[in-house]
Amino acid sequence: MKRSIVFLALAAVAAGAGCERKDLGRTGLVNVGKHTWAMIASGPSSVEGLGANSGFVVGTDGVLVVDARYTPVLARELLDKIRAVTNAPILWVVNTHYHQDHTWGNSVFKEQGAVIVAHAETRDAFLKYSPIYLDFYRERGAEAFALLKDVRFVAPDTLFSDGATFDLGGVSVELRHFGRGHTAGDAVVVVPKDRVAFTGGLLSNGYHPNLGDPGADFDNWLKTLDRLRGMSVRRFVPGQGLVCGRDAIDGLKRYIKAVRGIGADAIGKRFPLEEVVRTIQVPGTEGWLQPNILPFNVQAVYRHEIPRIVNPDFALDLPDEFLILDGGGNPKLGYIRWGSQSKEKGYLEIEAQWKLSANAELIVQDIAEAVARYEQQGRRLMTIERTRRFDLPGGPAVGAMGTWKSMDMRSDPGKGRWSWIMLLRGGKLYVVQCATDAAGDDAKEKRNVAELERIAETFRLQK
Ligand SMILES: [Zn+2]
Repeated sequence: MKRSIVFLALAAVAAGAGCERKDLGRTGLVNVGKHTWAMIASGPSSVEGLGANSGFVVGTDGVLVVDARYTPVLARELLDKIRAVTNAPILWVVNTHYHQDHTWGNSVFKEQGAVIVAHAETRDAFLKYSPIYLDFYRERGAEAFALLKDVRFVAPDTLFSDGATFDLGGVSVELRHFGRGHTAGDAVVVVPKDRVAFTGGLLSNGYHPNLGDPGADFDNWLKTLDRLRGMSVRRFVPGQGLVCGRDAIDGLKRYIKAVRGIGADAIGKRFPLEEVVRTIQVPGTEGWLQPNILPFNVQAVYRHEIPRIVNPDFALDLPDEFLILDGGGNPKLGYIRWGSQSKEKGYLEIEAQWKLSANAELIVQDIAEAVARYEQQGRRLMTIERTRRFDLPGGPAVGAMGTWKSMDMRSDPGKGRWSWIMLLRGGKLYVVQCATDAAGDDAKEKRNVAELERIAETFRLQK
């Protein structure tokens, strides 16, 4: 009991430690400089805009808005706050990145005549992912979707690449892009005169950051955080959390390094992702908001780090929709599993395993033995419908196919079809396992298996 009280007290100190003035350490509208205001979200819930901050800079000629919040309702709230400060026209909106909690309020400012500025990668990702995310919320239920019913996608209409400067009259604003970090198109908005920087998702304070974007790059993110640290800036407005100083940058760097280190170590030891997600603890994050994102962050680390750590010596022509789900080991003994999930096809999975073996018998022996091992482990009940020997460009292979049914419905729900090929190449035995689950639609599952087999047969060794 005592321990948790100590942790909470530390967390409270840590959250406020970056702020230089006491009134900066609160949510709502915060005046962070002579010309600059931050709108700090009150919490991480949907109605609070998923914790995403925004803000604005006011010059004699007009206003520049940083991030448009999650919904038109929230964007209008920001517009009201701006109007309480100035009646100057809203000239620009900068989207620091494409995530919905920073862009789905764009339409409100577009109606005010604002030009919407972002990095080209932000525009591309906005157009690609916004409809997918909206579908996701629509399927998740009426309550989550009710907030979003009047969202109208307005993409950035003006792009920048490395940097840009805006003169608002008496105050200028600089846009900077330091390469991939939280996403592929992160923009940092600096108000040099006020020594304030809006960091978007590159920095969060007292929130678990989101490491899971497909465009994220951990190495460059860490470098960018060092660059932010070196800027002549007094106050940072993070993407989530209270206005802060450099302490928050150090805290986030520790977080990224810790999650990455734990993940990399576990991959090398062939710990399944599931197990790491269940046991991971990141020191120094007690009291941080949005802890539910930690499992996704571990998953993201697995996705990024597996190819580097297990360093496979083969290639498969996988379509883009297949993502790395799990894997571990090293070039001598290891595995990688990829999966894809769609409304049209259901679930498709492909896994490659490898181990040192010079035993040619293994490839010609009855594949039933390998199947039986699954049952002994109590994982899947597998029936074999067909076995075959065939030739691939690199040499002979043995294959089998059949149906599977889960024996542990909680961790591995479902049933469907599977197909394996086993090959002996360069002193190693490779097993490429395919499995699908199209909710009992056998014709669809057969089609899926045929597609997976075509992928499996693209297997080739790379020097
Ligand atoms: Zn984000």
